[in-house]
Amino acid sequence: AKNLGHGQLRLYDHFFGESIHSRLRLTTDLRHAIERDELSVVYQPQFSAHNLKLTGVEALLRWQHPQHGFIRPDTFISLAEQQGFIREVTDYVFAKSIRELTELELLGTSIPRLSINVSALDFADDDCIELFYRRLENLHDWSLLQLELTETAVINNFEDTLRTLKMLREANVNLSIDDFGTGYSSLSILRRLPIHEVKIDRSFIRDLQVDDDDRTIVRTILAMAHSLNLRVVGEGVEQIEQLLFLQEHGCHDAQGYLLAKPMSAQELAKFLQQEPAA
Ligand code: C2E
Ligand code: CA
Ligand code: CA
Ligand code: CA
Repeated sequence: AKNLGHGQLRLYDHFFGESIHSRLRLTTDLRHAIERDELSVVYQPQFSAHNLKLTGVEALLRWQHPQHGFIRPDTFISLAEQQGFIREVTDYVFAKSIRELTELELLGTSIPRLSINVSALDFADDDCIELFYRRLENLHDWSLLQLELTETAVINNFEDTLRTLKMLREANVNLSIDDFGTGYSSLSILRRLPIHEVKIDRSFIRDLQVDDDDRTIVRTILAMAHSLNLRVVGEGVEQIEQLLFLQEHGCHDAQGYLLAKPMSAQELAKFLQQEPAA
């Protein structure tokens, strides 16, 4: 389970978990929404903690349900995982984000990198690497792409996932470990992964100003990542003090409401026009 910091997910899970019927309805609705292209993707900018220049954007999926309103991605992603169609969801995010950002001529020009979240189940099948290659067909430079996967995604089925990750890395795709620190991966596992980046989970950033334990954890993650030559992103940065702490301890990138909220592709294009040129 993810540390969401508030009770919203529980509420939704409770609501939709009421009956098998309502879960099935929602599943059908989600499938239709994908087929009819009714989901949207928003993009949250990431910045160099050092000079606040844009280093990339993270694609985040949004679903506005006609009756239930906004449904949290955590909720419908896990539904898609349980119901066996996370592949279609991942296909959708790849296709839509690459198309939108390419049409607006942002990707590879003002946006150095696009990060897409993938699920453990995206690595579960024998043919998953072919699937990834197909998703990348419309991207002219694969080094513009980064995949964000969680520690659990890697630990499940370690050897097979490792093989796929190595192939992706050889194809110049960047790899990032999301929610870092909340899983169970050991240093020795981390060392074996062909990753470029770790993202410090929001739960360690949240109380950084006041919580000595969190400061120690963040410093430790940074020291470890530096020694392994990994880039580090601090996520969920909401306060200037948090940014300063990350800056001071050599965190490369920062992402959070303090700097920019997730926004549509059109909003992103406008946002980038106001940004000083990189
Ligand atoms: P995540 O990958 O850890 O994404 C970061 C979440 O933190 C996003 O929530 C983002 O909107 C939120 N966030 C960013 N900055 C701040 C901040 O300063 N403060 C706070 N409180 N929150 C911040 P979101 O968009 O609701 O996504 C939740 C989770 O749903 C994601 O967590 C990810 O695990 C999953 N998800 C979203 N889109 C996708 C997708 O396209 N594919 C997959 N597989 N999972 C997705
Ligand atoms: Ca993520
Ligand atoms: Ca995260
Ligand atoms: Ca704490």
